[in-house]
Amino acid sequence: MGFIVKNTTIKNPLDLLCPHICTSCGALGETLCKCCKNDILFDHINYCPVCKRAAPGGLCKNCYLPPCFMVEWRDGVVFEMVEQFKYHSIRAMSDELAELLDMVLPTIDGEVVVVPLPTIRKHVRERGFDHMYKIAKVLAKRRGWKVQRLIKRAKNTVQVGADREVRILQAAEAYDLKGPINKNFTYLLIDDVWTTGASMKAAIKKLQRAGALKIVLGVLAVSRG
Ligand SMILES: [Zn+2]
Ligand SMILES: [Zn+2]
Repeated sequence: MGFIVKNTTIKNPLDLLCPHICTSCGALGETLCKCCKNDILFDHINYCPVCKRAAPGGLCKNCYLPPCFMVEWRDGVVFEMVEQFKYHSIRAMSDELAELLDMVLPTIDGEVVVVPLPTIRKHVRERGFDHMYKIAKVLAKRRGWKVQRLIKRAKNTVQVGADREVRILQAAEAYDLKGPINKNFTYLLIDDVWTTGASMKAAIKKLQRAGALKIVLGVLAVSRG
């Protein structure tokens, strides 16, 4: 791939001292260069995160799930970006990741509320920020949507390492709903990674029980297995 000369203005003076490099190809400039972004989005196929079959328009014929839109499989560069964003606080990643979500999501009519799945408080404290909330804010700004942290963690349950059954049980108990639901609004639940889907399914249930009728899902990286 050739070197790309950019004529965009530099948003952050620190970028001059410590320029970003593309997570995929290493090119200097952005955390994901335009070529690599196009590679992800060109001929993009949406898959159902549950059965892993193609799900054009976000809908799967086999699984009962609200329309779900994914950016990439978990073994791709997007997952790597999520990890870097979470653990190394490379905040420019939030713009790129939000843009990728924006590109795979459809036009949604009416009022849309972006609801980021919550991060464990301990992790937010350690990292100094809530990564999905940041992405939600950038995404909402791009589309003229609202952000509401409607789903909160009730307990500080930790998912990493827990087995599948435990995770599903933990997830179901782990959430509280904060705030009323408007039946006319579309709630766009977003999360970084779909592994078992336990967190997302628990969040969907919370919203539906509170009366939400229109739910759409957006996930950055979906596990193949
Ligand atoms: Zn690149
Ligand atoms: Zn399916």
